[in-house]
Amino acid sequence: MQNKIAVVTGASRGIGKATAKLLASQGYAVCINYHSNKIAANGVVESILAQGGKVIAYQADVSCESQVVELFNFVDAQLGTITHLVNNVGILLPQSKLIDMDAQRINKILTTNVTSYFLCCREALKRMQKGAAIVNVSSGAARSGSPSEYIDYAASKGAIDTLTKGLSLEVAAQGIRVNGVRPGFIHTDIHADGGEPKRITRLSPHIPLQRGGTPEEVAQAIAWLLSDVASYVTGSTIDVSGGK
Ligand code: NAD
Repeated sequence: MQNKIAVVTGASRGIGKATAKLLASQGYAVCINYHSNKIAANGVVESILAQGGKVIAYQADVSCESQVVELFNFVDAQLGTITHLVNNVGILLPQSKLIDMDAQRINKILTTNVTSYFLCCREALKRMQKGAAIVNVSSGAARSGSPSEYIDYAASKGAIDTLTKGLSLEVAAQGIRVNGVRPGFIHTDIHADGGEPKRITRLSPHIPLQRGGTPEEVAQAIAWLLSDVASYVTGSTIDVSGGK
């Protein structure tokens, strides 16, 4: 596909940042969505521009419908018609058992980790043409259930796996592909947000490859799924988890 235009949500750091940088290096024009850290987002923009890439940044809370609509209108105006979407935002709240969770916490996880993916897919699909592709970032927690740790987060990612499968069937006849990745334990700041910065160190002995992954290793899988090389792959969610 010529003139590839990608939106990556939650791209000021972590897996989103690595993905935005990789896609830009592969010739995509990229819109970096970020929530609040404008300085970090500008840093990503500057590093892509320094490599000769095409990039813009846009602040939006993608769990908010009106802000998602504005984000995609902005991309239309600044870059043109979106061809590729990476739904990457996600939050992890400090560990809690279900009996201690209130509705506010549960709704925060679900609106951020699930509603945002529905809304961004909807706006992208209003515009996408044959050959376009979406990748949703799930988690190994969707398979494990993350028992006694982050069951709300795990359930939200289970919903993403089902969204990926169902939506892939809905749009397959239009020639649009929808896939996902399930990262395992990846070295990003999300673990500190979840209350356990040293989580990967604790769990590394239980990972078959004996280490956590890097954001760049996840970005490679996302870029492959988006690319035309994966033209016969849809409805799949790939584990990028060191064998866990
Ligand atoms: P991260 O915290 O660095 O990145 C998440 C990004 O999403 C942040 O930049 C954050 O600001 C942004 N974000 C959160 N809510 C938002 C909102 N409402 N609107 C816009 N942006 C918002 O963590 P990460 O590890 O890079 O996570 C990226 C994705 O990978 C997430 O979906 C996460 O659940 C998933 N994941 C990560 C791991 C891991 O071990 N790091 C494992 C499995 C899955």
